[in-house]
Amino acid sequence: MGVDRTEYVRRPCLCGEGELVVNYCTPDHPFANSDAYHWELFLECDICNGEYVFIDQDQQAVIASRTEIAARQTARQEYLERSRALMSRDDVRAYLSQLIALVISQPSAAAKHRVFTRAGMTVDSEATFRRSLKAVGDERIVQQSAAPHNLSRIMTILEVKNEEISNELEVLKALELKSKEPCRPVIDPVCVLTKEAFYNS
Ligand SMILES: [Zn+2]
Repeated sequence: MGVDRTEYVRRPCLCGEGELVVNYCTPDHPFANSDAYHWELFLECDICNGEYVFIDQDQQAVIASRTEIAARQTARQEYLERSRALMSRDDVRAYLSQLIALVISQPSAAAKHRVFTRAGMTVDSEATFRRSLKAVGDERIVQQSAAPHNLSRIMTILEVKNEEISNELEVLKALELKSKEPCRPVIDPVCVLTKEAFYNS
């Protein structure tokens, strides 16, 4: 499957030895979704490439430092590892068993849906939830839906307190924020990455 590229931006890089290139790309094969498009961002300079990355950030083409990108990736990695460790702790597993028992004891699928909604474990409608429940069963649906971001609500529902877990959840929240924080552009954003901006250029 081919791609149609149109050059949108070409200008000198930061050091002036190379170039920044942005292409607007659309699929050029039949049956393609006519709205489909994507961007290609190139930092064509060996010197700048050592220090910077050219990225699409919040619909802007931005030059960010590699150090900042790496710090976010490290935070993301640590978040994933600590999340896994947290969810496999004995006390957390025990809470999930209690939650499974609570879900099983509910008189109806509607009541189960209310528990899940209160716990922040689903945003599905009752009908959709009912279908998933039927497909996977009480135990698995709890295990699949429980995660660090809803653990504190689960603990509230079970009326348990655990300072160690609460502290760890704070650490996780900070790591997640860090991993999603936008990078500071090293220079002013190079261009706006929207279809409108491209067609008006
Ligand atoms: Zn350069």
